[in-house]
Amino acid sequence: MELRDAHCHYQFAEVPYAAVEQARADGVGQAMINGSAPADWEDVAALGRRDPRNRVSFGLHPWDVPTAPEGWAETLRTYLVAHPAAGVGEMGLDRWVKDFDPAAQEKAFRAQLALAVELDRALTIHCVKAIGPLMDILRAAALPRRGFLLHSWNGPVELVPELAQLGAYFSFSAHHLIPRKADLRVQFAVAIPRERILIETDAPALCPAPEFRLRELAPAADGTEQNHPSNLVRNNAELAKTMGVTPEASAALTAANFARLFGA
Ligand SMILES: [Zn+2]
Repeated sequence: MELRDAHCHYQFAEVPYAAVEQARADGVGQAMINGSAPADWEDVAALGRRDPRNRVSFGLHPWDVPTAPEGWAETLRTYLVAHPAAGVGEMGLDRWVKDFDPAAQEKAFRAQLALAVELDRALTIHCVKAIGPLMDILRAAALPRRGFLLHSWNGPVELVPELAQLGAYFSFSAHHLIPRKADLRVQFAVAIPRERILIETDAPALCPAPEFRLRELAPAADGTEQNHPSNLVRNNAELAKTMGVTPEASAALTAANFARLFGA
């Protein structure tokens, strides 16, 4: 059984490489490492050179839109052309973050979407409190043929059929397994098509509750808990329980879906 992490940030300083190696020993195989701004793209590329299981994706996160340097989109194109198997992301829309600028976020979103379509890359989308504006874009724009990932999905079940029709994949994050979001288990059990389900940690972000952790990372300087890459193992076990299948079956399903979206 080898797991595929559909979304993580091993390039962040909170993740020592020993934790990545521990995750590999625990059964995590390929992991899609998402760059979030030009300042970390080279670190992501270096991780890709270090181990082919470190898959790479380059993008401008909505939180980084306000500080993006002039010409970032051209730099992004250069990285994508130099890495033919890379995805585009993490990008998206976020109307929760302080002082967000919806017009600037949408402009950055559309620029990255257009690159993903032109270069035929999988797109990884972050969406927080912005599902309406996201749907407006997805319903009208050209979309990547191979599909796109709605990372850490916790949106409304009503939109799942339409999103699946548009090419969406949905990743399961143990971070959201809290009583207030109990309907998420139902979504992954019955509403989301099985061939569109992935699993992710977002490590070191989105640390799940203690019962969903396999290992611990040191907390950040401000005390924020950090999500260990090995926690994907517990996440897969929870998805398996949710779907009523074995962890082996869940691992095989999500690995096949990962390969279809991101390439083998
Ligand atoms: Zn992320």
